[in-house]
Order: sequence, then C-alpha cells, then structure tokens
Amino acid sequence: MQVIYEPKGAALEYAELAVNLYTGCKFGCIYCYAPAIAQQNVHQFSSNPQPKKNVLKRLEADCKKMAGDKRTVLLCFTCDPYQSFEAGVLTREALLILEKYKMTATVLTKGGLIAERDFDILRRNNWSFGSTVHMYDNDPGRPWEPHAANNRSRCMAIRNAHRMGIKTWVSMEPVIYTDQALKSIEEMHCNVDFWKVGKMNHRDLDIDWRKFYDDVTGLLKKVGAEYYIKDALSKAAGI
Ligand code: SF4
Repeated sequence: MQVIYEPKGAALEYAELAVNLYTGCKFGCIYCYAPAIAQQNVHQFSSNPQPKKNVLKRLEADCKKMAGDKRTVLLCFTCDPYQSFEAGVLTREALLILEKYKMTATVLTKGGLIAERDFDILRRNNWSFGSTVHMYDNDPGRPWEPHAANNRSRCMAIRNAHRMGIKTWVSMEPVIYTDQALKSIEEMHCNVDFWKVGKMNHRDLDIDWRKFYDDVTGLLKKVGAEYYIKDALSKAAGI
C-alpha cells in the first residue's frame, strides 16, 4: 500500500503529495481534524503515536517508482514530523530516502527547534521548511496546542532556517486570535519567504473574517511578502 498520496480538498492547497509517518500525534492540538479521520478522540490520538507499519520500507518502494518526481511531498498532514527528538529520527530517515530518489520534499511542523537537526538535508536539496505559526506570544497558544513547541521556538526555527539559506514558509492556520496572527507577520516577515493564510475551520469563533482578510492582506502587501490566501478564508470573507 502506498504511503505517498495525493491530498484532496483543502489539503491540496498545501502540497500535491504528502506522507504521514506516524499513526497519531503527541501534540494534541484541540482543533486537530486528524483524530476524527482515525475515528478517535484527541486523547486517544495523542496518547501513543507510533511509526506506521513498515513506513520506511513502503516509502522507499514508492520513491523507487516515482524517482525524480518534481511534485513536492509534504511531511506531514495528519501527524507532526518532529513530535519529539526520538520520534524525529524516523523523519530524518524518511528525508534521506526522499533525497536518495531525487524527490522534492517540504516539512511542516510545530516541533520548533527540534527540526534543526535535519536542516542539512533541506539545505543541500534546496527543499523548504515550514512551521505553523498563528500566534506570536507563547501563552495564548498553550491551551490550544498543549504539547507542541512554543511559538518562540517555532519562530527561532524559521529564523535559523532562513539564515542558513533554506526557503521558509509559514502556515497561518487556524487563525484563533487575529491580533496574534498579525503580530506574527509584523515580527517574522523578514525571515519568511512565503505565507499561507487560512482561518479556523472546525469551530465557530467570533471573528469578522472580512476584516481579518483585509487586515492580513494589507499587512502582507505592506511588508512586501509573498503569500497565498486559502480558499476557506476567501470564502468566509465573501471574496
Ligand atoms: S501538530 Fe498537527 S497533526 Fe499534530 S495534533 Fe496538532 S494539528 Fe494535529
């Protein structure tokens, strides 16, 4: 069974291909959609994530067939590739397999500075590094993402990747506090090559999405950033 797959729907706005290395995710974000896909609650999904069965063998088999494919493979959608230092060893092995078969990869993580261990692979392959950042200050995020790296660690990882010459991107989704989202852009834009901005999709929040759309696009233009506004935000804003 293939482990590299073509995402569907909104996930396609992130990458043409993806691979999920683990069966769950320790970070336990309370807005996460992945537990529902696995027919679990957040506690079950985050309590004992494991590498998927034979995932590296299966990845290598897929890469052999797809060698040289120019589409970008995202690690990961339904789990984080840097859930802890131990777990992240598997991610390094996966990146080395993708490199061996001349694939193109990008990372999306809330693991913060743990990911730096693999920056050597990203840099020599000209692959990009992405982090989810929708808050700049640490405290407001903790109840929403109880076991992920704090926002400062994520910002530092982005900054350090940028300093190494790695192309950086930020997934600004979900947006929970619009002032924190805008502050992230103000504080980080010098180190971010590309922004993908969405909204909160699975909960109703008291947010004027049209105002946020105008504010965020205005700010991104003002700082000269490259960006993509996800369809869900455009739709909520009536664009
Ligand atoms: S890091 Fe991503 S996959 Fe993991 S719990 Fe949070 S939203 Fe879900």
